[in-house]
Amino acid sequence: MNQTTRLVLHGGAGAAASDDGRSSAHLSGLGGRCQAMLESGVAALDVVEYAVAEMEASGLYVAGRGSRPNRDGDFEMDASIMDGATRRAGAVAGARSVFSPVGVARRVMQDTLHVLLAGAGADRFAHDLGLRTIGSPAEYFVALPAADEGGSPHGTVGAVALDRSGALAAATSTGGAMGKLAGRIGDSALIGAGTWADDAVAVSCTGVGEYFIRVAAAHEVAARVRLAHVPLGQAVDEVLAMIAADGGAGGIIAVSARGEAVARWNTPAMKHYIAEMANGCM
Ligand code: ASP
Repeated sequence: MNQTTRLVLHGGAGAAASDDGRSSAHLSGLGGRCQAMLESGVAALDVVEYAVAEMEASGLYVAGRGSRPNRDGDFEMDASIMDGATRRAGAVAGARSVFSPVGVARRVMQDTLHVLLAGAGADRFAHDLGLRTIGSPAEYFVALPAADEGGSPHGTVGAVALDRSGALAAATSTGGAMGKLAGRIGDSALIGAGTWADDAVAVSCTGVGEYFIRVAAAHEVAARVRLAHVPLGQAVDEVLAMIAADGGAGGIIAVSARGEAVARWNTPAMKHYIAEMANGCM
């Protein structure tokens, strides 16, 4: 058993958090619990699913209960999860009635030969498996303040972890970019764009999803580490620079099998938690 564990969580990149510190307090409590889980030997895959599901259920982020409506007034949620040890992955896009989009993504990974289920098919899959679905949208979704009311325009959530066995995992979940068209799918549902994990790195992204899709951001970080042998922080900075050069903005969290843990953003702020490290690796 490898003794080193690493954990980073994010609660979205964008304007500075304006919820009286509730999401930062929530993130640090959740981060502490997840760190303890990793240290006690819980698998990275279970920890990232737990972390993202807790953030979805909290209503403090633009994911799960805190999702924002699209231009038609409907809620469509995207999520994905990836197991670095096996490179198995699962995702849902445009789900409307599932309680935990990341939980359904995990079941897509585990119970099907598919990677991504979208729209009504994702909702039906969750229903058929007996997974928890929302009652009425009015009961499930909490009304987070919009950006022009002092709320943050971003609030996607993500988690990356390295466990004691040396396995890596990543998960991401979002309730959507501001003002999205019905049917728009962002990077958070797409393996390689918003989420990636292999045997070397685990990555979760947040920001304007279209820019992250265009550079396959999460996979691009992994490719730079694998092929160019650069430190993780440098790979993340280079990918954020590519996104900025295209006019995009956001943040990336990542951990590596060699014990690096990174949280970087090019927006004014990114809600995040980075586990303290015994040997100070960043
Ligand atoms: N990346 C998410 C999306 O484009 C939004 C965000 O991270 O704030 O759907």
